[in-house]
This record gives sequence, C-alpha cells and structure tokens, in this order.
Amino acid sequence: MAETFDVIVIGAGGSGLAAAYSASEHGGRVLVLEKRPQPGGTTGIAVGSFTAAGTSIQRQAGIDDSPELHIEDAGKFPPPAIEARNADAMRAFFLQEAANTFEWLRGLGLSFVGPSPEPPNRNPRMHNVVPGAKAYIAALQLGLQRRGAVLLTNASAESLIKDGDRVVGVRAIVRGETHEYHASRGVILAAGDYASNHDLIAEHRGEQFRCIEGINPFATGDGHKLAKDAGAWLVNMDVTYGPELRFVPSSQRPFQQCFPASGAAARVMGAIAPRLPKWVMRSMIKRLLVTWQHPENSLFDDGAILVNREGQCFVDETKYPDREIALSAQPEKIAFILLDRRLVERYSAWPHFISTAPDIAYAYVADYLRLRPDIARSGDSLASVASQAGIDVAALENSVKSYNASLGQTSESKQPLESAPWVLLGPVKAYFTTTEGGAVVNQRMQVLGHNGNILRGLYAVGQNGLSGMILWSHGLHIAWAMTSGRLAGIAVMSESARPESVDLRAN
Ligand SMILES: Cc1cc2nc3c(=O)[nH]c(=O)nc-3n(C[C@H](O)[C@H](O)[C@H](O)COP(=O)(O)OP(=O)(O)OC[C@H]3O[C@@H](n4cnc5c(N)ncnc54)[C@H](O)[C@@H]3O)c2cc1C
Repeated sequence: MAETFDVIVIGAGGSGLAAAYSASEHGGRVLVLEKRPQPGGTTGIAVGSFTAAGTSIQRQAGIDDSPELHIEDAGKFPPPAIEARNADAMRAFFLQEAANTFEWLRGLGLSFVGPSPEPPNRNPRMHNVVPGAKAYIAALQLGLQRRGAVLLTNASAESLIKDGDRVVGVRAIVRGETHEYHASRGVILAAGDYASNHDLIAEHRGEQFRCIEGINPFATGDGHKLAKDAGAWLVNMDVTYGPELRFVPSSQRPFQQCFPASGAAARVMGAIAPRLPKWVMRSMIKRLLVTWQHPENSLFDDGAILVNREGQCFVDETKYPDREIALSAQPEKIAFILLDRRLVERYSAWPHFISTAPDIAYAYVADYLRLRPDIARSGDSLASVASQAGIDVAALENSVKSYNASLGQTSESKQPLESAPWVLLGPVKAYFTTTEGGAVVNQRMQVLGHNGNILRGLYAVGQNGLSGMILWSHGLHIAWAMTSGRLAGIAVMSESARPESVDLRAN
C-alpha cells in the first residue's frame, strides 16, 4: 500500500535538501528520495561559492550593495549571444531573493568567508561556505533529521503518478523493489543536471559531443525526463557549461572533505575560519584548486602541447571546442600537457597560473608538483617525464620534434619546446561541468506546460527548474539551488492538501 506524505522531493542534492527542509519548516511531512547511497549530488562536490547582494556579511565588511545593482551586473557576464536568450525577469526575481536565502542558510549554522570580488560585479558578492560545499548537505540533512523528515537513499524515482492532470505521487525503485508514494500537496523535482546523459547531450548539443563526460557521472537528467513526460516545457537544453579540460580527480579523499562538515567540530571551524588571516584561508583553499579546476587556455596559447596516452599530438590545442571533441576520441579519453623550462618558469608566478578560482587563490607549477603528485611530474629529460606517466618515450620525443619543426613553417609567435626541466601534467579529460536547460517554472516553482499552464502538483528546483536562466559567473548555481528549494518548500506547503490523500492514508 502506498504511503502518503505532504511533499515528495526527488533528489537529495542542494536544491532537494533545501526544498525538503523548507517544506518541513512549514509543517510538512516530507519524503526525500535519493538514488545514490548518500545525499550530496553535484552540490556535494562543488567548491561552495554563493553569490548574492545585500547580505549581512557584506554589511559587516562595509559594502553597500543591493539586489538591484546585482541584477544590472549579472547581465554583463555572459557573451551577448547567450545573454540574449537569458530569462531576465526570472533572474531578477531570483537575485532579489538570494540574500534572504543566504541569511536562512546562516541561520542553519553555516559559515562563510568573503565576500570576494568577481568583476564585472561592481561589488564583492561571492561568499564561500566553510569548509566546502559538503557543509550545505550536512547542515540541511541534520535539519531534516531534527524535523523528522524521511530520507531514503538507494531510492531512484522512475515515474510520476498522476490522477487526471495532477501529479499525486512517485513510483520509485528502493533497494531493488518498486514502491509507490503519494504526495498530498506536491512533488518537487530536484534531480540535478544532464551533463552525463549522452543521449540528451547529443540530441541538444550535437552528436560530436556525445562521448564527452560530465564531471558528476550520476548527473543523468532523470528530473528532465520526468518533467518532459509530465508535459513540461523545457528550454535552453542546448546550453552547457563546458565542455572544458579538467584534471582528473585524485583517488584520495578530496581535501575539503577531510574537514568536519557537521557537528561541534564544524561549528568551531566555522567560527574560526572568518577570523583567520586571508593568507591562511588561501593556502588551505589552494588545495581545492588542484582538485577539479581546469588548466588555463593561455597555457596552450603560450606553446604548451597536448599529447594523448600514446605520446602523440592529436589536435590544435588552441581551438575550442575541437580540442575537447578530439580528446574524447583518444584512448581512455585522456591527454597530458607538456611544458618545457620556458613555460615552467612562466607559469610559476602571477599573472601566469595553471588554475584558479577567482580571488580565492592561484595554483602554479610548483603547487601541482607538491599537492597533486599523481598528475604532475618533472624531469630533466623527456624520457624521464614520459616514463613516469607511462607514456611511450620515443613517441613523445617525436611529437616534440614534429611540433618544433611545424613552428618554422607558420607565422605564429609560439616558441619551440626545448630544454629541461620538463613538466608533464595530466591526465586531463574533457568534461561538461553542468547543463543550463530546465523546466519553465513560475515564481512558486510550479512547473509550466507549453502553453504556460500550471502542471498541478509538480514543482522543479535547482538545475531541473532553471526556467530559461543561464547562470553565468561563479556562485549563482548554488544560490539558485538553495533559493528555488527554499521558495518551493514554502509554496508547496501553502497548497491545500488533496482530500483524496486523506482516504489513501486511511486505507
Ligand atoms: C566541480 C564543480 C564545482 C562547482 N562549484 C560551484 C560553486 O562553487 N558554486 C556554484 O554556484 N555552483 C557550482 N557548481 C555548480 C553547482 O554545484 C550545481 O549546479 C548545483 O549544486 C546543482 O544543484 P542541484 O540540487 O540542482 O543538483 P545536485 O546537487 O546534483 O542534486 C541532484 C540529486 O538528485 C539525485 N537524483 C538524480 N536522479 C534521481 C532519481 N531518479 N531519483 C532519486 N534521486 C535522483 C542525484 O543523485 C543528486 O543527489 C559546481 C559544479 C561542479 C561540477
């Protein structure tokens, strides 16, 4: 027999947990279904920046800012062709609400450092949660537990249950068995993006992008599929963040996850962090920069080359997205970046860095050699770096020879790769970071059909309910995940409960 809740949330990433917590705060009996063995989703592997204007932390820092100014600046981030497609009104509504969400999260005990500048934002607006984005998950999960919500893991939502034109529940596979759950007030889609759904990527972005992976291999667009099946209007499905080159993650536990994300230790850390000198925070956060960050394109403009697992050059590494497409067709979909002495020296000090997160810190060659020995090796010969990486020595030497010879025949300003020390960085892979397509929703996060009609009983948040917004700049995806979740929780609990569900409960 189906169990009935007020609200069912599909997905226990950032937006889903925010929606569930918000609904339970407003008195709802909430069920969260999470397909993975633990909550977190892409939010759990993110850096954790949250960009908002008019926050208490800005005021403490003497920054006079407002959502209105943020609304003006937000439109300056995307290239004009992308900005022309942005949903201005929804973005303005979101940015008006972001600071309220930020204070709501601080109320849950989360601590932030910053705000940091990120031009063309005219004021510093980027707040970074301490110790990392896992803290959002831990704080919301703890809050949910306190409020008695039910969170089922290894529970994959497969389809929506409808009564007439209203969504009234979810069919899910929970630990191998099919179960039905009813929602008397609403179902909230919070299942993240489709960066790892090769069919959706090929359909909307183009067949040549099919083989490129998403950073989160479980971001398979389940929420988009459920929304589409229910008649939702999905927009901007061809807009993606990436593909771009990124270093593969370390097999060791990510640095930020070594810190406590909940409990007394996390609270102590949260209290201390904002008082630490900036250089201490920067050197700690620098480790984050060598975890998921992407190598700067300037490396290739300056003459670094990309070779595949067999030591061969395979593409003009300065051309985007040809580089990413070609890389995804190489053996194991991996490549390595080769630097000679000139480049090693150049990428050892500002303003030439291997990777960064704006205004947090910059990572140079020496940082990679020290913090990521699994993906960075140096040597006094090409043979030395090639053998350390398990690459064919003769092939790498030939590639360098051919590359140097090719320079003489072009008018490019690049210089030959000549002398030791050599540094070989990688593997790098081409990844989609996230996707920007989603269901159109109204300001109550209710999903709309193609005619603008409300699909009763169905809500979408986070990457499922982007509603035409293309969130260029750092810190807006998490701000949206949390804001849309908070607002959906309030909205769904203001719906009157379906009388039928009383019968269901009685049965
Ligand atoms: C490396 C990296 C760093 C980033 N850093 C930042 C940052 O610092 N700031 C920022 O603003 N943005 C950042 N982003 C983007 C941001 O993290 C995400 O866009 C945002 O957190 C997505 O939240 P979400 O709730 O929509 O999805 P998710 O957090 O991915 O949650 C979706 C959840 O739904 C579950 N799920 C999926 N399908 C089902 C199903 N059928 N049944 C049940 N459960 C299901 C998933 O397992 C997952 O737990 C980063 C992204 C990446 C990849």
